[in-house]
Amino acid sequence: MRIQFPFHLSSVGAERAGSGRPFGTSLSKDRLQVFLCMTDKALHVWTKVLEKTSDPGGKFRVLGCLITAHLEMGKYKDMLKYALDQIDTAREMEDPDYLTEGYLNLARSNEKLCDFQKTVSYCKTCLNMQGTTVSLQLNGQVCLSMGNAYLGLSVFQKALESYEKALRYAHNNDDKMLECRVCCSLGNLYVQLKDYEKALFFPCKAAELVNDYGKGWSLKYRAMSQYHMSVAYRKLERLPDAMECCEESMKIALQHGDRPLQALCLLNFADIHRYRKDTDKAFPRYESALGIMTEIGNRLGQAHVYLGVAKCWLLQKEFDKALDSLQRSQILADGMGNKLCALKVHCLSEGIYRSQGQEEKLREQVVKFLQCVEELELYCGMCGESIGDRDQKLQSLPCSHIFHFRCLQTNGTKGCPKCFKSSMKPGFV
Ligand SMILES: [Zn+2]
Ligand SMILES: [Zn+2]
Repeated sequence: MRIQFPFHLSSVGAERAGSGRPFGTSLSKDRLQVFLCMTDKALHVWTKVLEKTSDPGGKFRVLGCLITAHLEMGKYKDMLKYALDQIDTAREMEDPDYLTEGYLNLARSNEKLCDFQKTVSYCKTCLNMQGTTVSLQLNGQVCLSMGNAYLGLSVFQKALESYEKALRYAHNNDDKMLECRVCCSLGNLYVQLKDYEKALFFPCKAAELVNDYGKGWSLKYRAMSQYHMSVAYRKLERLPDAMECCEESMKIALQHGDRPLQALCLLNFADIHRYRKDTDKAFPRYESALGIMTEIGNRLGQAHVYLGVAKCWLLQKEFDKALDSLQRSQILADGMGNKLCALKVHCLSEGIYRSQGQEEKLREQVVKFLQCVEELELYCGMCGESIGDRDQKLQSLPCSHIFHFRCLQTNGTKGCPKCFKSSMKPGFV
């Protein structure tokens, strides 16, 4: 097995931080080779062991190693294949501990392949298997995966609720790694809801955890927190900071052969260049990101690439090309059930048809846009105005309903207007 590099690596290597230091210079080729060989060798050994093992418990463990290894490399389709083998083995043994772990791995494989409905249902299966000895250790991870899946479906309140639960498990078990991952996911959630202060706060918190506790952790955690910080900095239009964090993240992702993160960094580099209206630099990076995302099966990432590409074409006033890209994004978004992406597509298409005076098509997009707005329930239960259409401070209640920060401050102690729960203590996240 060979891990391929993005085909535009040379052009991306020229990326410069504010300091003028080209990233990737500290990457030793020898070290990289050693790392890749080790992974290859380990996989080879595990596959051999798997062939020889007849004991189901042993087989289950080896499959677990193969699942983790393929997750690390972004080989999600293989990961799913091994997860399916693993759940068959667990069913054979009829052991609830093995079944719980097997379902978690199935959930995570489906989450990575953007099959969010399946992820939610496997997570629910896990949570229903309470009382197993592993459930206490695994429940936090299950809640995180479930939150990510709900976020993939743009069901924000349920995503927030799941993340809060995951954080509670992390605190109760003193699990800093889980806390770090949840903080990154919360950053992602608040980027989507456009509370950029919180979108930056949570990944910064994750980076702090890495600094304080992460000596023995995989560098992956550092790379992940830097990537999420970078996205928040970009949204805040602090582009040099965004660039620096993204370069740091990309450097680690390259050292570790972490293809999924490389793809996300490339997408973010492209978006940064688009913010600077430098479409010449943006396009090849979108293309590289798309290449990797297609290969690993990150459909949500692909949908975001097409959105970015469309916005670049709009900058160049190439409306037909923009519409073509938007259409591709919409097909992917509809396939996954990601309503926020669909909403953005309709919003951009609407603008194009309006400028072209295409009344009928315009009307069609407006209807679809309003439908998305309604389904997303993105409004504040206090003032009735929208949430997530511009940068605004938000605050959730313990029930995970989300409001404008200013509205909650003026509401006093009347309880949540959406679900009528009485507690008005601000929620943890
Ligand atoms: Zn409000
Ligand atoms: Zn509520």
